Amino acid sequence: MQTLQGIAVSPGVAIGEALIVGNEGFRIPRRLVVRDAVDEELQRFRSASAVVAAEIEHNRDTISSQIGEQYGAIFAAHLMMLQDPGLQRQVEQLIREQNYSPEYAVSQTLRRYAQVFQQLGNGNLAERAHDIFDIERALLRQLLGARREELSNLKSPVLVLAHSLSPTETALLDRQFVLGFVTEIGGAGGHTAIVAKALEIPAIVGVGSFLEQVSGGDSVIVDGDHGRVILQPDEATIDRYQKGAEDHRSLEVQLRGLRNLPAETTDGERLLLQANIEFPREVQSALARGADGIGLYRTEFLYLGLEQEPSELDHFQAYAEVVRAMGDRRVTIRTLDLGADKMGRQPQQEERNPDLGLRAIRLSLRNLPLFRTQLRAVLRASALGPVQVMFPLITTLQELRQAKMVLADAMEDLEESGEPFERQIPVGIMVETPATVMMLDQLLKEVDFISIGTNDLVQYTLAVDRGNSEVAERYQASDPAVLRLIDLTIRAAAAARVPVSVCGQMSGEVSYTMLLLGLGLRGFSVPPSAIPEIKRVCRSVSIPQCEVVARRAMQLYTAREVDNYVREELRKVAPELLR
Ligand code: PEP
Ligand code: MG
Repeated sequence: MQTLQGIAVSPGVAIGEALIVGNEGFRIPRRLVVRDAVDEELQRFRSASAVVAAEIEHNRDTISSQIGEQYGAIFAAHLMMLQDPGLQRQVEQLIREQNYSPEYAVSQTLRRYAQVFQQLGNGNLAERAHDIFDIERALLRQLLGARREELSNLKSPVLVLAHSLSPTETALLDRQFVLGFVTEIGGAGGHTAIVAKALEIPAIVGVGSFLEQVSGGDSVIVDGDHGRVILQPDEATIDRYQKGAEDHRSLEVQLRGLRNLPAETTDGERLLLQANIEFPREVQSALARGADGIGLYRTEFLYLGLEQEPSELDHFQAYAEVVRAMGDRRVTIRTLDLGADKMGRQPQQEERNPDLGLRAIRLSLRNLPLFRTQLRAVLRASALGPVQVMFPLITTLQELRQAKMVLADAMEDLEESGEPFERQIPVGIMVETPATVMMLDQLLKEVDFISIGTNDLVQYTLAVDRGNSEVAERYQASDPAVLRLIDLTIRAAAAARVPVSVCGQMSGEVSYTMLLLGLGLRGFSVPPSAIPEIKRVCRSVSIPQCEVVARRAMQLYTAREVDNYVREELRKVAPELLR
């Protein structure tokens, strides 16, 4: 048994079999074979070895004759490794004595060999590990043949272990069979993390290099509450986690009772508790948890899996589905935040700093036909129910004015064609950079609402890439510099009587709810799955109590002190929510 620590990005516990998604992402199906089948399985391994050996010989001969003997020698080395009697013996022993399937035995043995090379720390020898992985892949391809099960076509539950998963790959995971996932790289604020929350599957990122230590089919626990990955857990550990998962389920059932109760503090302050969504189908989870509205609809996810740019109709149909389902509850449609690590759209030229590059409103303003198409669809949806439009990453007054001009153009278009829409549609901006906070006195005069995007605000304030595991420990929403900017924003909005909410991940973290209420926040927009817990905290505290917490927290010097303090305060009011 081995425990690894990563960054917890989507809560919950999953226990199951590992599916390692490498270049080929196929699954090693069975771990054990029945005793009677051992001879047959040994034969299967020997035949696979022979076919792979023949393949390697063929490659060696072709390469040698085409580009020279020295290149052919690479394959000669592969052949020697494959046919090494020690290696063959070990695989056969595992099949015969442990009743392992040939697939599992091959993977176990070759990965152990590879690890030895990697631990030598010598560049050239460490490289040999890649050769061993190549041989493993070739053998598995042979052994699995047509029975090969791929990520896109799963038939039974797995835990996906990968070096990295893009937001798109994550969104395409089959929720029926993917119980959870773990990646070697990635940070807390990346969009892969956001998608994991939307899918409501336990997920951990930024574990560091570990895939060589696992074989497909190994049993694994993903503890998405604490960021722990447990490889080959023993019985006692599995029992403990199963018990924890049961407790979690009964807490969920208990919290379900809050669905029809308002998000209201004990002293009668009514709060707005809305949902963040990425896909129209999430509206159902938002409604099932009693969301007051949609505070952030990330429309860029519409690009997912599309070969070409979505048409106005594609946009409209998605928005209409959300607006109709939400009835009289408001839907905040954020215009495209493409670029950076998000969907689609390859940049015209490679960007060295995509987060500082052509992203979000900048990209929309650079591509007016695209922007206008989207705005027309948003406006048409506004005829179906209460809709507001929000612009991402506004950093200057000029950007806001330009965006509003394009909106006015889109209105004119629709008027000419006689399409109905809401002329008084509220217009808002995200507050995601320190520059925006510094300019709020001006910006607030020209908007109807604002929403603080802490995911980016943390990144741009602390100069820490939100998706980079190397600097993940510095990426803290509770950093005093970030808290001061949030405080300034809430105060400025209150003074200007402009509604303000927080829609970054911070607002969905129960340990920050009291702090944010104490700073004066009355609007939260969180992943649907977080609504019950946040409501539970809101309904257990009074505003004066939270103001005390906020005052104390604002006097602390480090993120760690703030985190410890707010957790202790949460323990006093809702200990069952502490993870
Ligand atoms: C944010 O930055 O906090 C936010 C909500 O936007 P996104 O995560 O989509 O960048
Ligand atoms: Mg953002």
